[in-house]
Amino acid sequence: MSSGSNSINPYPLTNGAKENGYNSTNQNSQTTPPTRAPQPESQAPKTQLSQTPLSVRKKGVKDFEFGKTLGEGSYSTVVSARDRSTGREYAIKILDKKHIIKEKKVKYVNIEKNTLNKMNHPGIVRLYYTFQDHDSLYFVLDHAKNGELLAFIKKLGSFDLNCTQYYTAQILSSIEYMHSQGVIHRDLKPENILLDEKMHVKITDFGTAKIFESNADGEEDARANSFVGTAEYVSPELLKEKAACKSSDFWALGCIIYQLIAGRPPFKGTNEYMTFQKIVNLEYTFPEGFPPVAKDLVQKLLVLNPSERLGSGGNAGIEKLKVHPFFQEIKWDKIWEMPAPRLLPYLPPNPQYNKEEFRTNTSAYLSELSDRSEGNNNSPIATGLKQNDPFRLESWVGSEDLSEKVDPEKIKKLEEQKRTSAQWVRFLFKSELIIRVGPINKRKGFFTKKFLLILTDFPRLIYVDQEKMTQKGEIYSNSRMVVELKNKKTFFVHTPRKTYYFDDPNATANEWVNKINEQLVANYGEMF
Ligand code: ATP
Repeated sequence: MSSGSNSINPYPLTNGAKENGYNSTNQNSQTTPPTRAPQPESQAPKTQLSQTPLSVRKKGVKDFEFGKTLGEGSYSTVVSARDRSTGREYAIKILDKKHIIKEKKVKYVNIEKNTLNKMNHPGIVRLYYTFQDHDSLYFVLDHAKNGELLAFIKKLGSFDLNCTQYYTAQILSSIEYMHSQGVIHRDLKPENILLDEKMHVKITDFGTAKIFESNADGEEDARANSFVGTAEYVSPELLKEKAACKSSDFWALGCIIYQLIAGRPPFKGTNEYMTFQKIVNLEYTFPEGFPPVAKDLVQKLLVLNPSERLGSGGNAGIEKLKVHPFFQEIKWDKIWEMPAPRLLPYLPPNPQYNKEEFRTNTSAYLSELSDRSEGNNNSPIATGLKQNDPFRLESWVGSEDLSEKVDPEKIKKLEEQKRTSAQWVRFLFKSELIIRVGPINKRKGFFTKKFLLILTDFPRLIYVDQEKMTQKGEIYSNSRMVVELKNKKTFFVHTPRKTYYFDDPNATANEWVNKINEQLVANYGEMF
């Protein structure tokens, strides 16, 4: 615990940071109130600036009451924390010094601190204080209570056009601001876009950002000699020229818009190399039914030459991007005051599908999706068990032979099932009976996959790849599961965490719905 030991304090931070004591040899929880360049009036929203005056008093570990872990990164743990004196909640990112040194990530920690220090915008996670103790570095940040945008894309499968426009506008406004401050993010993706308690965007993870000095378009002076970013969102110029520029963030924006609507990123190979190949060859397609106005914008963003990409060319370029018809409904000066729209999935046009009806039927239910904190104790996800956890079977039904507890009638049925449905028994628990089996098309956004669906009395739905005879997924029921018939072919299964869309090629969706409902009532009683 030798204070001032060079081996545990190798953070060659910027001058500003040194002045603030970050690199001080006294390591007992020093604080660094961030230094911020004065914001041009037009770029720094007044509300945000006035809401959060920075304390000049130094803060340290003792000033905060630490709460639950919000997430883990490769080199950090993020926990919720409350300022003891003001009661204000934060997220504190804690980085283990030794681990960072061992993994040679000191540079990235400094980049994150230096870039965040330059940021003061409602769409960007704000850094309030930094301090350190003997073992750790602490970044005190805005607490984005609703977590990652990616989680919501996964829950809904995709976002409808209205939601996509709203979130794209907030992301673009944040990019515009960070570029105006000389920062290129270089790793924009739905995992790095957090949502606060109002479901507004808070961009995070500036560890691979770049502060550029000269060129108006932000081309790097020194070429990046290592891959930064995430395979699916990385720009072609970074792959081909090893250089990123402001326009690289617009490429990522194109990928995000595509993903919000289609439910998956445009470039996805079987491995990283294949993904890169697709990117440099601009090899992607739009699923049928992709809204034309969004398609036009994505096509103008996913352009191989960065200087021809919509948004490039400094402020004038951004202005051109902001007046694209995709943003027609957006009032740019109001986007941080506008309430977030109710999240609704995008469903490709289907003549039998009535969107208004869907809105009404499910609006109460979908509102729960925004409430991340409301877990369901019956849900296997809420219990922390992974779907394929080998221990989950034991934890649900016990490892002993259940035959003594199962009624004789059911034992007979189980015996018969072994003979008549031998091929499916491998997917079942010991005393689980099949209620219904049939072909199903599982839809996610625009994409459809063929499976065999098995409903059991557990009750759960198992979907199986019939050719490979492998289980591809399962949906555990719970008391809050709702099943909804859309038409002869289509039904939805809503769980607190996700909505599943199924198309029955035999047009017997009503039978599925009836059978699932029977099982839900038998197990959990009537819902209302
Ligand atoms: P990696 O370092 O591997 O790229 P990461 O960048 O996601 O991972 P962190 O920034 O440490 O790592 O974040 C870890 C997790 O904590 C994230 O997945 C995110 O869900 C959560 N998290 C991070 N910052 C905040 C925040 N300000 N508010 C709420 N949750 C946060």
